[in-house]
Amino acid sequence: MTALLKAEGLTKHYRLARPRLLSPRPVLRAVEDVSFEIAEGETFGLVGESGSGKSTTARLVLRLIAATAGRVEYRGRSILELPARDFRPLRREMQMVFQDPAGSLNPSYRVRDLIEEPMIVHRTPATARERAERVAALLAQVGLDPSHAARWPHEFSGGQRQRIGIARALAVEARLLVADEPVSALDVSVQAQILNLMRTLKDQHGLSYLFIAHDLAVVKHMSDRVAVMYLGRIVEQAPRAEIWRRPAHPYTKMLIAAVPRARVPDHRAAAVPPGEIPSPVAPPPGCAFHPRCPARMAICAQQAPVAKEIAPGHVAACHLY
Ligand code: SF4
Ligand code: MG
Repeated sequence: MTALLKAEGLTKHYRLARPRLLSPRPVLRAVEDVSFEIAEGETFGLVGESGSGKSTTARLVLRLIAATAGRVEYRGRSILELPARDFRPLRREMQMVFQDPAGSLNPSYRVRDLIEEPMIVHRTPATARERAERVAALLAQVGLDPSHAARWPHEFSGGQRQRIGIARALAVEARLLVADEPVSALDVSVQAQILNLMRTLKDQHGLSYLFIAHDLAVVKHMSDRVAVMYLGRIVEQAPRAEIWRRPAHPYTKMLIAAVPRARVPDHRAAAVPPGEIPSPVAPPPGCAFHPRCPARMAICAQQAPVAKEIAPGHVAACHLY
């Protein structure tokens, strides 16, 4: 497996304001020692409840925020410390698809301008005529009519707006799409259409995905491999079928048990595992999951578990293993 992207020990801490004069500044541990690889052509799913650090991980990888520690390699080059000038051509290949297609599309831009903007930023293609042809081709590829180029984002449904967001990401010949909850703002009936479009485009363009969702069923549908995050850490990582059939970490088991059998809107409330996520400012000692864990032992509150390979390609951080 040649890695397209490799993250090693990625960490992001935020120093918060002092609660009282002279008291120490609390540290929010948003992402803690996260490592993973995404192979060329692979979809790597990142799943976890909101606040688990998934979006922060995505932003770190794209250098939208600065890492506190760790490194990221893209096509064999360490990118976090590259000068902006050297990073720009690589950044062009790494595009983001956002959760809220309404919020991420500038409402004062026509569709044409939205899709052209990244081409202008990266000066590819160079001429206005080539760009216009490319906009038309991209709209057709994402299932929209080329005549929609003259319209405004508000004239489209949520699903159509996400198609525009995807066309925008593809405008500059991306190789890696980082999709952060790309369907969670959409109606369930539209979600499958967008996911299937993303799969088709992946094959057509030879894309790789870092695919982020809180919904395990969505991640399962999309991913070749899955990592589960809890309180800023990856607690389990395995091939898709393996994690579904033989989940090892008690938190993963809890997530799977919470997936409703019939995915209809009324059942959504059931998709929340029991117990509250502790604050990342004061994570529980030892295994951060221990206050919610049905399998916890004495050691769990004292010592943080180390990630271990329990089967080929299947890694879990839990004292049970
Ligand atoms: Fe549960 Fe202990 Fe494993 Fe943490 S280390 S998940 S508390 S059994
Ligand atoms: Mg998020």
